[in-house]
Amino acid sequence: ADEDDNNVQRRAVKRRTEEEKAMIENLRKKSRQEYLKKREQKKVEEIKCDIEEEGHLFEVDKLTESEQRELRYKKEIVDLVTKKQWSEEEADVYRIPEEYDNFEGGSVNQKKRFSVTTQRYKDEREIHPQQAWEQNQLDNATLHFGSKDRKTTDYQFVFENQIDFLKAAVMDSDGVSVNVDKQQPTSESSVKKSKLNEDRKDLPIYPYKDALLQAVQDHQVLIIVGETGSGKTTQIPQYLHEAGYTKNGGKIGCTQPRRVAAMRVAARVSHEMRVKLGHQVGYSIRFEDCTSEKTVLKYMTDGMLLREFLREPDLASYSVIMVDEAHERTLSTDVLFGLVKDVARARPDLKLLISSATLDAEKFSDYFDCAPIFKIPGRRFPIDIHHTKAPIADYVDAAVVTALQIHATQPQGDGDILIFLTGQEEIETAESIIKHRIKGLGTKIAELITCPIYANLPTELQAKIFEPTPEGARKVVLATNIAETSLTIDGIKYVIDTGFCKIKCYNPRTGTESLLVAPISKASANQRAGRSGRTGPGKCFRLYTAHSYMNDLEDNTIPEIQRTNLANIVLLLKSLGIKDLLNFDFMDRPPTEALLKALELLFALGALDEDGKLTKVGEKMAEFPLDPMLSKMIVASDKYKCSAEIISIAAMLSVGNSVFYRPKDRQDQADNAWMNFHIGNVGDHIALLKVYNSWKDTNFSTQWCYENYIQVRSMKIARDIRDQLEGLLERLGIELNSSVNDLEAVKKSIISGFFPHAARLQKNGSYRTVKHPQTGHIHPSSGLSQVLPRWVVYHELVLTTKEYMRQVTELKPEWLVEVAPHYYQLKD
Ligand code: ADP
Ligand code: MG
Repeated sequence: ADEDDNNVQRRAVKRRTEEEKAMIENLRKKSRQEYLKKREQKKVEEIKCDIEEEGHLFEVDKLTESEQRELRYKKEIVDLVTKKQWSEEEADVYRIPEEYDNFEGGSVNQKKRFSVTTQRYKDEREIHPQQAWEQNQLDNATLHFGSKDRKTTDYQFVFENQIDFLKAAVMDSDGVSVNVDKQQPTSESSVKKSKLNEDRKDLPIYPYKDALLQAVQDHQVLIIVGETGSGKTTQIPQYLHEAGYTKNGGKIGCTQPRRVAAMRVAARVSHEMRVKLGHQVGYSIRFEDCTSEKTVLKYMTDGMLLREFLREPDLASYSVIMVDEAHERTLSTDVLFGLVKDVARARPDLKLLISSATLDAEKFSDYFDCAPIFKIPGRRFPIDIHHTKAPIADYVDAAVVTALQIHATQPQGDGDILIFLTGQEEIETAESIIKHRIKGLGTKIAELITCPIYANLPTELQAKIFEPTPEGARKVVLATNIAETSLTIDGIKYVIDTGFCKIKCYNPRTGTESLLVAPISKASANQRAGRSGRTGPGKCFRLYTAHSYMNDLEDNTIPEIQRTNLANIVLLLKSLGIKDLLNFDFMDRPPTEALLKALELLFALGALDEDGKLTKVGEKMAEFPLDPMLSKMIVASDKYKCSAEIISIAAMLSVGNSVFYRPKDRQDQADNAWMNFHIGNVGDHIALLKVYNSWKDTNFSTQWCYENYIQVRSMKIARDIRDQLEGLLERLGIELNSSVNDLEAVKKSIISGFFPHAARLQKNGSYRTVKHPQTGHIHPSSGLSQVLPRWVVYHELVLTTKEYMRQVTELKPEWLVEVAPHYYQLKD
């Protein structure tokens, strides 16, 4: 992944941007000579320094070909710059090949766009270093200005790149697109007014407070619809609290589809109420409970409320449940609908609020027995929507270019920028490109502050996006879907919409689930655009064509329940005593095939018996807030007397792929450290266990993590998770046993949960599972990727350029027969 990142970065620094052109143009007019001198001097110094450093670090013949090429380029540039001689020919050497961003023809299938992008990522491993080129381009330009024998007017910018947008429409305050000609942006005064710091009374919901409270009093179930940012999430629970709904000890629970949103909103509300987070106002997300006895306003993920049904099937401790962000239609929210609807019938005193940011609330109303809809009139300013003229192959780069374009050409301090990307990796890439380019532009350009926000962003960094932008600077927020409706960031005037998001896809045939980068829906696109017009007229730049918007995007995103693995939810519903899943009151039914697949897996894992009833093993499994295969692995570790090791492994697997750390400048050391944990080709599960245990042996030392290129933050999370799993073991009466020297026992426990993921090596080096054949390759980051054992078991299958198995361990086929005789039999 690191290497990919490198390539992404190299690829992206390649092109100059429109405002860099403008910058140089400006400088040329102002103080050309002075600038040139400094610039040249600086560049030469920098490059010399570069060369020295690299020459010092590497022996040239040990460099890869592309590194050698880079060094050569840099040397040549230094020579050219110092000699100040440019012939046409020389200048041409540095021109990069034809622009290949734009495809011929109008409509390009979005999927193809994506595959082309990944193709390019690959190709550019071979392309010469972009940085040298970039450096040169700048020097190239400045030298041209400076040479006396050239007429400056002759100068032609050699920058390629510039993204052309066409203005398509203006979205009016109802979110309806109207023709550009018919509507003009509103006056300046509204912009100014909106800039005033919004306090609670300024929010669109405030004038409707009394009416809303009345409606809640009059109706048990209420659907609430209001534009993002109108105050639904932060205000409604407070209004209800003030109106006395928590007086008799009942809590107000508010669900969020995303953990970051639950945390941030709770933090905001506790701030508004001037109480400490975790006291009256708290949040609860998986593996993190920040509530106390005192808590009356509880924000939580929808998944957490689902789990609360296990302890409290009638939600007796709640007086109000607000299912927020209902339009997102996550799996947990959809299942919650069915459950809370049932509880509400049995408990007339429970108030149920379903809130949504989209206007099509009739469906919710129909589902909840024609519940009334309370609309909070929006306050949205007109938004100019721009589409690209031609499809764009590389949306990360295009987004960066567009942001810089806006930053350089729009008045200082007139509003912040919000870019929608698909995930952490992309966000980090974009962030580093922006920083790099801004640095390259020197001090002549106003400050641009980058603020990333995504699900795994450390808590202490999350608050940054809400901090007001300093005078004279501009903020660019790099966000995933989370900023679409869950979090409102004030002060956004420009939205850059890449048109993609990550979505979960499930193949019921093979039972594999993958996260794919896929085009968003029209509804999403409009929500994203809407983020720019909240406090004044906004602008939205879509990095796709108007044609693509019209023809390639679906109207709405398919609800998650129809495209995901249901094993988890089926186990939960079974343990809630719901027998007939096929007739459960789903708002949109999941595919029968997926339901059956989930039942089949749970049966294979021993969680359900032949009649579909929950077994003792299943009861235990349901206690763990983990995927059924992981829970089964833990439950099985009791038998193999290695529960201590298995919960460490489960905790380490739960922090994902962010355990090892490989800084660009110390890759060798990092690789050595990594090797230490993989000695003997023990496989990735055992390697993770070794990491955990070694860390524990140093008494959880931070220093040890640094020395071993292990990410401290991930380890701390893992430790936290492990503690909780240990607590669960105790509750379930599973003894904490350790058999650190019996790795076979550990592996057998793993297989007890993951035997459906057992795969056998094929002639071509790929692997294939036994039942429901699924092929995959060992991920390059695995300790076994060079070893290729005959039989392996994998933790997960991810689809990137190929189908990759992540976290792989070798196994003996006899174990399969021993551990899962109902699933595997020996062939004679
Ligand atoms: P809705 O749920 O209707 O989308 P919210 O209640 O989330 O609206 O947000 C209302 C307003 O509260 C936002 O416009 C913003 O000004 C402010 N706000 C919400 N969360 C935060 C936060 N974490 N930090 C600062 N301001 C916030
Ligand atoms: Mg909200």
